[in-house]
Amino acid sequence: MEWRDVPRRAYYGKYERVHVKNDYSWYEVYRLPGNVYGIAEPQHFQEVNFYLIPGTERAVLLDTGMGFFPVEPLIRELYDGEIIAINSHFHFDHIGNNHTFEPVYNFTDAYVQRVAEQGLCREDTGAQMDEDMFKHGYPAGFDPDTFRIAPFRYRTLQDGQTFELGGRTLKVLHTPGHSHDSIMLYDQAGKILFTGDTFYLGALYAHFACDQFGRSDIRVYQETMERLRREIPSDVNLYCSHNDFITHAGRLGEAADLLASILREGETESGAVNKGHQYLEEGRMLNERFGNGFSVVYAVNDVK
Ligand SMILES: [Zn+2]
Repeated sequence: MEWRDVPRRAYYGKYERVHVKNDYSWYEVYRLPGNVYGIAEPQHFQEVNFYLIPGTERAVLLDTGMGFFPVEPLIRELYDGEIIAINSHFHFDHIGNNHTFEPVYNFTDAYVQRVAEQGLCREDTGAQMDEDMFKHGYPAGFDPDTFRIAPFRYRTLQDGQTFELGGRTLKVLHTPGHSHDSIMLYDQAGKILFTGDTFYLGALYAHFACDQFGRSDIRVYQETMERLRREIPSDVNLYCSHNDFITHAGRLGEAADLLASILREGETESGAVNKGHQYLEEGRMLNERFGNGFSVVYAVNDVK
C-alpha cells in the first residue's frame, strides 16, 4: 500500500485534541500527559511531531516543524510567554520555522552550521517534496519549488545543560548516532524523555552519509542507547518526534539490543528497505532490521 493510502493513524485517538484557530488545516495539536502539547503534521509522509513544553515562567519549543506553514500564531494561542526554541537535531523536517524563534539552541557541528547559515531548498530534501509524499497532494498555499527553510541564528547546547522553566527543569542529553548533533531533553521530575529522532516507533535511521543529513554512526548509536538504558528509569515515558507520540522507556533497551545484534552479526540479511526511505542513498546497500514496533535502517558496509 502506498503511504498516502494508509488510513488515518489510530493512535491519534488516544490523545486529547486541542482545536486551534491557526492550524492552516495542516497542524494538529494534542494535550499530552504532564502538561505538554504535541503538535503533529500527519499529512506529510514524515508524520513529524514537535513539542511545546510549558513551565510557569517560560516554555521550551522542541523543534519547529517542517515549515510549510507558519507555526508561531498557533504556538501563541497555546502560550503567550517567553519561548526558548531548541532543535532535537538539524534535519529538515524539524527546523522549518526556526527563523521565527531565533536564536535556536542546538548541538552545533559543521552540518548544523551550514544549514543555519544557508537554509535549505527543495533540492536539499531529496524526494521529500514530491507530491506523493503528501497525503492529499500539495496543500493549498504550498509551492514546493519556491519552498525555502530560511537561515537562522543559533546558540550552542552542552551535554548536561539545564533549562529552568519554572516548576519544570529540562536537562540536555547529547545522544549522537542518528546524527552527531542529536539531543534529548529530560524532564526527570515529570518522568518524560523527549527522544527526537533517536527513538520512535518506526524506522530508526542509522545510515545517513551526506551533506543534507550528516553522518549517522551505528556504533555510537548503540552506545547512546546503552547509556540511556542505564540512566533512564523504567517508569519514564518517551515522547517521540515521529509517529505515535508516547511509548515507554523499556524501548531504549530494546533498541540497544537490536543495534547490538546488528553489529554482532554484521550483514546476514538481505532485502532492501522501503524504497521511500532510500532517497539520498544512491549506490549504497541498506538493510532494515525489525524489532517490536520499530526497526533500524543501516548501511551494510558500516557493519562489516
Ligand atoms: Zn532526523
